[in-house]
Amino acid sequence: MRKKQLFGTRGIRGPIATKVTPELMLKLGGALADYIGRGKVVVGRDVRTSGEMLTCAFTAGLLSGGSDVIDIGIAPSPCIAFTVRALGASAGAVITASHNPPPDNGIAFYRSDGTEFLLEGELAIEEIVLGQGPKRASWDAIGHVQHHNAIAPYLAAIKRSVKVKRGLKVVVDCANGAGSLVTPQLLRELGCKVVTLNSHLDGHFPGRPSEPQPWNLGDLMRTVREVGADLGLAHDGDADRIAAVDERGNFVKHDALIALFAERAVMASKGGSVVTSVNTTAAIEEVVAGAGGKTFRTGLGNFTAAMLEHKACFAGEPGKLVFLEFGPWADGIFAAAKLIELVSADRKPLSKILAERVPDFPMYHEDFACPDERKAEFMRGMREYILKNVDEVRDVLDVDGVRVNRKNGSWILVRVSGTEPKARLVVEGRTKEELERLKKIGLEGVRRFLKSK
Ligand code: MG
Repeated sequence: MRKKQLFGTRGIRGPIATKVTPELMLKLGGALADYIGRGKVVVGRDVRTSGEMLTCAFTAGLLSGGSDVIDIGIAPSPCIAFTVRALGASAGAVITASHNPPPDNGIAFYRSDGTEFLLEGELAIEEIVLGQGPKRASWDAIGHVQHHNAIAPYLAAIKRSVKVKRGLKVVVDCANGAGSLVTPQLLRELGCKVVTLNSHLDGHFPGRPSEPQPWNLGDLMRTVREVGADLGLAHDGDADRIAAVDERGNFVKHDALIALFAERAVMASKGGSVVTSVNTTAAIEEVVAGAGGKTFRTGLGNFTAAMLEHKACFAGEPGKLVFLEFGPWADGIFAAAKLIELVSADRKPLSKILAERVPDFPMYHEDFACPDERKAEFMRGMREYILKNVDEVRDVLDVDGVRVNRKNGSWILVRVSGTEPKARLVVEGRTKEELERLKKIGLEGVRRFLKSK
């Protein structure tokens, strides 16, 4: 299979000065129109300062290729996916760099059903952009722009899809991103008392870096404790991601949220499949199996194809959750509403629900610098070394790097990043002692095959 040149694991991203330029956007617009055979395209963007400029260039490209554009302005990515499906458009595009730094921007595409573009679509677009360039429509076939308010129907659809039994007190941190337009209002309309942090639009991201990781969410954790909230919620800049904080102000592990929602989805659909990435806790398989379902693992940033293949009822990788009951796209806002529904129904604090439902195994993550040209050799060495030194192996998963599962459920994963010169080691033990033992094997491998030269 040909390797992608412009697209990364999720769309195209990079600095607006050198990579994601108006010139590129113009070509991408034309290429998308070409690829879908004209048709209608929903276009939206996050709050970045370059968003309007890039949207204008991209829109011009679509119009010149003969596509009509439904411009929904600043909107969360999941709202764009929802609108594509709701309006029966041929495709959607979101101009966002997700949680990259403010000088970056990017673009990602949705298909007519609201799923992310698969590899074949991205390769076809690249071929047009990097090849002869897009075809132009004749003067009497140029497209038109229509403006559309997409927020209200999206919010109403989420409200119809959840049942909140009692209002909770919730602190919401939208990272000054597009989620600010929906999540605080949605939770209020669901009966919650909402305290907001960083919930006005600002493309400078003044409040915190946009990635919803514990090291960026100190204000949220503190505020949950200070105001005595039931929980805290955080998005990234385009609100396809979610993170949660329990009533004690502790960060809820991303993997625990996947397990919690996966179990509920399997129970609600009386069995079924769950898709998750190769780097998440074995607790997911266990709770899903307990509820009568089956878990499938895929490479990172790659769950759409597997989710469709296995007709999954839920899919998730850390921070990105897909509720197939609502739509086949990662949706941090629907996830927020579902978490409120879940906590309000249980009449227990979130920390207690998690402690009862999701086993918490000790885990270790570390990244190592690994130049691109050494990645293949490093992976060959590591695979052999781990298989030789880890005992009681149950199975080996090669979907993205190598994950060696032991019979008792503990595991070790080594993979290299598809976008950065990095290698990653992840280990999960059943006990702290076991974690240390497996970690030692992994680190010794890294020392031999990465650091020895
Ligand atoms: Mg995002």
